[in-house]
Amino acid sequence: MTTKRQDERGSHLVKSIKRSDFRQGVWHVKSESQPNVEYRVLYESAACACTCAAFRLHQPEWCKHIWAVHEFVSENTDMAPIGPTPAPVGRYRDWAEYHKSRAWQIEQVETLMAELCRPLTTPIASPKGGRPRNPVADVVYTLVLRAYCNFPGRRFPRLLSSILEHALTKGAITRVPGASSAQSCLGEGWMESLLTELILSTSFPFRSLETIIAVDCSGFLGSRRQNYTKRKTGGKGRERGWKRAHIMCGVRTGIITAAIVTDAHDHDSPLLPPLLEMTCQRFKVKEVLGDSAYASARNFEAILAKGAKPYINFRKNAKGAKPGAWRETFLYYRDHHAEWQEHYRRRRMVEAVWSATKRMFGERLRSKGDVAAQNELLLKLLCYNLCCLIRCIHEFGIEPEFTNGSMNGQNGWRIQRPE
Ligand SMILES: [Zn+2]
Repeated sequence: MTTKRQDERGSHLVKSIKRSDFRQGVWHVKSESQPNVEYRVLYESAACACTCAAFRLHQPEWCKHIWAVHEFVSENTDMAPIGPTPAPVGRYRDWAEYHKSRAWQIEQVETLMAELCRPLTTPIASPKGGRPRNPVADVVYTLVLRAYCNFPGRRFPRLLSSILEHALTKGAITRVPGASSAQSCLGEGWMESLLTELILSTSFPFRSLETIIAVDCSGFLGSRRQNYTKRKTGGKGRERGWKRAHIMCGVRTGIITAAIVTDAHDHDSPLLPPLLEMTCQRFKVKEVLGDSAYASARNFEAILAKGAKPYINFRKNAKGAKPGAWRETFLYYRDHHAEWQEHYRRRRMVEAVWSATKRMFGERLRSKGDVAAQNELLLKLLCYNLCCLIRCIHEFGIEPEFTNGSMNGQNGWRIQRPE
């Protein structure tokens, strides 16, 4: 896949290895970059180890020094018995492909959004009558592009309008909605279900890639003014604007497969069944990974009912007294802990999803209204999914094909892979 794999580096290094490097049961391999440094490689049939930093970071994957010794010993079979089978080489990022995907990201976000918005042709009816309002597609397109660029529309009006004028000439939108009219749509209730549906649509192309799903929740800060008000009133004021996003994501690519946004004080655990229900509409789920906040009999039953296996962490004081799904899961957790941990460690992908979303699109919500803040957070998650989709189009060569579900009853429309 790349030119930087450890086994390939090892075959480059093998020329520098001599028979005399094997002393007292250990191989002494010289460092490539530092001439005075030597790494000690243990090469035995039971296990392999190296004293270099790369091995410490990525074990049990082999570093280039172990690969070099492996190659040397395979060529000189009289030296030592060829024992160990190589540990699988992990997924190394293809940086050339990665840079290419980043350079064209905004163009591709525009293309994907135009495709996603195309079926949304209904104009928004105003309850008070009056002149016709902007089409839904134009409003959603504007809001997503604004969230993607992550700058306040009022401070950079010309920057935003130049992006939208460009979209207008390409035919992605039919007119440029005013900044305030787009913002006012963000505070309307219908936007929530629409944005959730769009997030689910962008996960659809991953349905054959993801079977292991991680669940987690994270908080996003409200506007500064509200934090200030709360401090002034000694914490008595209502904590507004603060939101929590509850998501499920695939552990292989990090695509968000279900999302719900709630107030800051809502609990995590009861949201697992609805998130799982959303995910199962598009994915065949085999494993569900989550931290101890999700450990409840109700959640275990919901996961088992979907034919999946729960790998949920237990609290330290948990006991297997409750019969049924709880006891069954707890006994496996207690008696096969090493095996359980092998599955559970893949949960870390969900932390990477939070990190990426907050780095790229900010962890602060600008909207003051309750509904607007909720929808703003959904927009951030949608933007993350679009970026994830674009990365995977390049890395895995997947075809972006969406189903728009209940939006207008038209299924299975697809777009060409962007060149
Ligand atoms: Zn090494």
